[in-house]
Amino acid sequence: MLPVNQAESIILNLVQPLDSQRDVEIVDLLNASGRILATPVSSQLDFPHWDNSAMDGYAVKFTDVKDCSPENPVSLEIIEEIPAGYQPQQQIISGQTARIFTGACIPPGADTVVMQEVTQREGNRVLILETPQPQEFVRYQGSFYQANTPLLNPGIRLSATEIAVLAALQCPKIPVYRRPKVGIISTGNELVTPEQPLQPGQLVDSNQYALAVAVAQMGAEVIRFGIVPDEREILKQTIAKAVTTTDFLLSTGGVSVGDYDYVEDILTELGAEIHIHSVAVKPGKPLTVAKFSDTQCLYFGLPGNPVSALVSFWRFVQPGLKKLAGVEQTAWKPEFVAARSLQDLRSNGKRETYLWGNLNLGNDGYEFQLAVGSHSSGNLINLAGTTGLAVVPLNETLIAAGESVQVLKISSNYL
Ligand code: AMP
Ligand code: MG
Repeated sequence: MLPVNQAESIILNLVQPLDSQRDVEIVDLLNASGRILATPVSSQLDFPHWDNSAMDGYAVKFTDVKDCSPENPVSLEIIEEIPAGYQPQQQIISGQTARIFTGACIPPGADTVVMQEVTQREGNRVLILETPQPQEFVRYQGSFYQANTPLLNPGIRLSATEIAVLAALQCPKIPVYRRPKVGIISTGNELVTPEQPLQPGQLVDSNQYALAVAVAQMGAEVIRFGIVPDEREILKQTIAKAVTTTDFLLSTGGVSVGDYDYVEDILTELGAEIHIHSVAVKPGKPLTVAKFSDTQCLYFGLPGNPVSALVSFWRFVQPGLKKLAGVEQTAWKPEFVAARSLQDLRSNGKRETYLWGNLNLGNDGYEFQLAVGSHSSGNLINLAGTTGLAVVPLNETLIAAGESVQVLKISSNYL
């Protein structure tokens, strides 16, 4: 049984990220949401594009207004009105000003904007009642971004903020990594779909749904291979076919030590190299990780128990899937936060133990609330609403209520 951290590094080392040339597609801005930027982006535009005003007021020469006060105002002639979107037609010379509005271009000759609140309009003239700072309320061209310098770095997941930047800088075609292809197989003679009538002894294949959604939420393409019975030849054929069209192939069930647990034998027969057989983690001890060298597909044989399958996904598949997808290295690892446990958290100390529940932000930082009910790995009912997995480390048996615990954040907001 491998320690969890070792299993994590083995997996990350086995993952070959998508190629920043071959595995790239160009998408429109609105289709870039949740996608991973594949190559650096720069723009030919400065931002702001032009010197413009940050206020409604008057564009002036600072030297004209450097000594004014309410008692000693300076009177300037208004030679033009410049609303947003309008190109100034006249040059400001000493003694002149232009009426200007927020976002409008600063006219040539002006270097400062006086806000209208400290002015008094008199026909085609204006009194300036206060001295501004030099260059006040001018947003200079290129002061936030200079053309042809790096704008966004590859490896970031594009969301509203990045897409706004790309739109503002007129980058309408975005190079993103293609979506990783992730296959899902459920193994087990007992399994039926949610639509099939249930016969005695049967069980609904919930893993197919849990994993399909978890994978899709990460922006990957899901290829569902459905339920495969515990029959060696059928399972072998399904796996042999699936590895040719997927980057990752996930199966659940059949990786334990039961008489019908064929997955490892089949992987070996198909020429895959098995790197992980089991991990010192609870739930989720039986975890098979194998690599097909010819197709580069990485196989994850996850445990069948619904909770084990999801915990294994979050702890081991998700980091690998981020690396595969082209996500920057700093974001591969799962996110752990320190939280105060609201209950006693127990383990037998023999395996790193993950207990599910809710991670909430209380008045004094994060709090972890253990899910009510059985923590059997076969109980998926109280898994609903899970936002965190609290970790009782190897060789520890108790984290008492009130103590600090590391909690793995379960993120569902990747897209
Ligand atoms: P196995 O690892 O195949 O021995 O399965 C362990 C447990 O998980 C058994 O109780 C199975 O019935 C259950 N199980 C296996 N596959 C699934 C699945 N796809 N959905 C829900 N439960 C499953
Ligand atoms: Mg089974």
